Amino acid sequence: MASIQFVDVSKTFDKQAVIRDLNLTIEDGKFTVLVGPSGCGKTTLLRMIAGIGPHTSGRVLIDGKDVSRIPPGQRGVAMVFQNYAIYPTMSVRENIEFGLKNNKVPKAERKRLIESICETVGLAEYLDRKPSDLSGGQRQRVALARAMVKKPSVFLMDEPLSNLDAKLRVQMRIELIELHKKLGTTFVYVTHDQVEAMSMADTIVLMNKGEIQQEAAPEAIYHQPNNLFTAQFIGVPPMNIGELGTEGARFGFRPEHAVLSRQLPPESALHYQTRGTIITREMLGSETIYQIRSGSDSFMVKSAEDLYRVDEEVFLGVDASKLHFFGGDERRLES
Ligand code: ATP
Repeated sequence: MASIQFVDVSKTFDKQAVIRDLNLTIEDGKFTVLVGPSGCGKTTLLRMIAGIGPHTSGRVLIDGKDVSRIPPGQRGVAMVFQNYAIYPTMSVRENIEFGLKNNKVPKAERKRLIESICETVGLAEYLDRKPSDLSGGQRQRVALARAMVKKPSVFLMDEPLSNLDAKLRVQMRIELIELHKKLGTTFVYVTHDQVEAMSMADTIVLMNKGEIQQEAAPEAIYHQPNNLFTAQFIGVPPMNIGELGTEGARFGFRPEHAVLSRQLPPESALHYQTRGTIITREMLGSETIYQIRSGSDSFMVKSAEDLYRVDEEVFLGVDASKLHFFGGDERRLES
């Protein structure tokens, strides 16, 4: 196990700064997810930990040790990529054995290790199959097993589930959470998918344009977003944002926190009230998502009941405790 620290780290490509003065501590044994839009610098950070993309300035520490001069193979980290990186002509066993042979691990020990790891990741029955005879999820497990035999103190994963179909992705998410619990090793996981981040992370590090926007547990990042960017990146649909007069300040509320009604609710029951028209209705089974136009604002509302239809006029209310306020600098104001 190992903690990772970035101290005043910057990275420039062709004089363009893609990471700026970044400070971050990734805790030992935790499942940390780096999330953010495409190009925000997630992979660049992961590569710095792995030692395959040096930083321009600052320090990267693994377990308190500056790793600038430590080559990738000696950092105790293993990386799992989106495109599996497994050998198509080798069987599952041979794929996993490859690294062990290179490290001169004796044959009996290799056999024991491979069998025990394949048991853990659910590949025990497939040891003699070629990758072409495996499903996408099983191939991804081979990639995981290959990383696991190295017994790394840090697992680095770069969008490992993005080539899988939606159903398998959900299943693999659960398997990765369980694997993390079993191994107790530090996991650093990169994704641009906030649902993946919310469902798997102990800690989410949300990035934008090479800077950390917020670092917190999923619940905190959802309920107490630091700023407008975080409020709108996390959540499906994202937080609704409206203008507050001419002061440049804005207010926000989550789609599930709005209450719709046909009658004007009694005064004082709800802090924010407006009237609008239903523009779209999306019935998802257990919930319905409405889009409501109110003057120049458009709000998304998630409701457990499917009571309204397109073109209907409704009242929309939000309890005071569910409103967020943001200042002119886009930071959230404490209420
Ligand atoms: P994605 O989700 O699309 O993979 P990311 O957040 O992982 O994005 P990075 O791959 O870290 O983003 O890239 C961050 C920025 O650095 C991007 O603007 C990218 O174009 C730039 N970049 C990355 N590698 C290089 C390179 N070798 N040369 C020049 N620019 C690069």
